[in-house]
This record gives sequence, structure tokens and C-alpha cells, in this order.
Amino acid sequence: MPFNIDFTDKVIVVTGAGGVICAKISQEFAKKGAKVALLDINEEAAQNNANQINEDGGIAIAYKANVLDKENLEEVRKCVLRDLGKVDILINGAGGNNPKATTENEFHETYLTENSTSIFGLEKNSIEFVFNLNFLGTLLPIQVFAKDMIGRKGTNIINISSMNAYTPLTKIPAYSGAKAAVSNLTQWLAVHFSHVGIRCNAIAPGFLVTNQNRNLLFNGEIPTERAKKILRNTPMGRFGEADELVGATFFLASENLASFVNGVIIPIDGGFNAYSGV
Ligand code: NAD
Repeated sequence: MPFNIDFTDKVIVVTGAGGVICAKISQEFAKKGAKVALLDINEEAAQNNANQINEDGGIAIAYKANVLDKENLEEVRKCVLRDLGKVDILINGAGGNNPKATTENEFHETYLTENSTSIFGLEKNSIEFVFNLNFLGTLLPIQVFAKDMIGRKGTNIINISSMNAYTPLTKIPAYSGAKAAVSNLTQWLAVHFSHVGIRCNAIAPGFLVTNQNRNLLFNGEIPTERAKKILRNTPMGRFGEADELVGATFFLASENLASFVNGVIIPIDGGFNAYSGV
């Protein structure tokens, strides 16, 4: 078994590549020889990541991209084709929750009014924003970039799901629903693309402290009650780190190691998903 991780000359498109998780993942792919296209709506964050990778001797180019704008993605695809070549691996990392799609209360109570920030107070626009970012923001880049993968050996897609896809967390119904949809889409695509050689899998990270959830987990330096609850329900008793997602991502991406792995969602969660809390 060639347990040799080598992505030399593979073109990897990473969305959300200016964020905490996908900056780390893209840096590690670059160290293994990949040419990495870093897509993010936050151009500065993507460019900072590209600078870091290039300084370390890797090959990376940053592109300003909005995963919800198909025309923009088509333009970016042309640039990636021109600069790096056809995509071999697409990692869909853009996503996250938003405070506006978060209820204040975990439970609705009889004394709460219809205007409270329980389920009744959530704005349609906010729900759409979070649902679309996570679900459509995964589907649209696949529509645009997977065209270049058809019939080419070793091509694959890796989505990022979440613990919410297995059992929804309180307060974030749009994010939970969207990540369940991302897991479902991962399996759907694994089947849909199975005759044209594109594998589709996902990772489902447990809890890491990043930009998109920091305000739910900390008040300044102080952990919120929610953060304490998460740690009590994570048997390993700590938050994960972005570099702990890299091994499983390498495995799924590698044709040597995972050529028959298709439609799986790997939890990387310190045991959270296995624990009933008792
Ligand atoms: P992050 O906020 O650090 O990174 C998200 C990145 O996506 C940011 O750089 C942001 O600019 C970018 N982005 C947002 N909207 C975009 C758009 N419309 N088009 C292009 N880029 C856009 O968060 P992260 O935790 O690194 O998140 C990466 C992925 O991991 C997300 O899908 C998230 O839902 C998922 N995830 C995170 C955790 C966690 O605990 N942090 C757990 C499970 C899953």
C-alpha cells in the first residue's frame, strides 16, 4: 500500500480559502505539491493565505469569488484554467452561521412573545442567507468546476458538513438544515457522478473556534455557557484544531488511498457524535 501523500501538479480549488479551516487545509495541500486556487469573498484574506503559501515555496493564487454568484464563479473558472489548468479536486469550504439566523433562546416558552428571537422572530432574509451560503454555496461551485473533472482519473469533490447534520444544535436552524442538506448532496453527487469518475465525499468537523462561531463560543476571552456545554459533550474535552482536519481530507482526496471511497461523510469531532451525554 503506497501510503505516500503526494499531490504534485494536482490543481485544487478551495472555496472559503481565507478562513481558518480552509487556509490550513490549502497550505498543507500546497506542501504536498498541489497548485492551489484560493477562492474567497474576502480577497485580502485569500491573498494573505496565498502570500504565506508562496513564501513557503508552494504554488497558490488568490481569486476574489462569491460562491453565491454563478457568473462570477464562471469568470474565476476561466482564470483558474488560464493560470493553473483544469481542476482535479474541489474543496467546498465557504460557509458558516450568522448571528442574525440564531435564536436567542434554546427553547420556546409560553411566556415568550411572537416577536421574541425564538423561532418566530427569525427574519426570512437571514434564514435564506445562511441556508444559501452553506447549501447553494456548495452546489454552485460544483456546477461550475466539476465540468472540468468529467472523465479525468483521480478527480474528486470534498464538502464540509458539520455535527449539525447528524443532530441539529439548538439556536441555529438554518445552519443545521443547510449542513444536513450538504451531507445529503454529498451522497447524491457520489451517485450522480459515479459513471464519470468524480468521487464526492465530505468531512464533518466537530467544534473548532473560528471567525464564524466565535461570538457563540466566547464573550471576549470568557467561554459562553454554550462553549462549556460543547466541551462537556465532547468526550475528548477540548475544541479541535484546523490541522486535525488535514489527515482525513488528504485521505479522501488521494486516489492512491481512497479510489473506492465515495459518498462518505467523516466526522472529526473528538467523539462528540458518538456520545449520548451519559
Ligand atoms: P471561517 O469564517 O474562518 O471561514 C469561512 C470563509 O468563507 C471566510 O474566509 C469567508 O470570507 C468565506 N466566505 C463567506 N461567504 C462567502 C461567499 N459568499 N463566497 C466565498 N467565500 C465566502 O470559518 P471556518 O470555521 O473556517 O469554516 C469553514 C467551513 O467549515 C464552513 O463551511 C463551516 O460551516 C465549516 N465548519 C466549521 C466548524 C467550526 O467549528 N468552525 C465546524 C463544522 C463545520
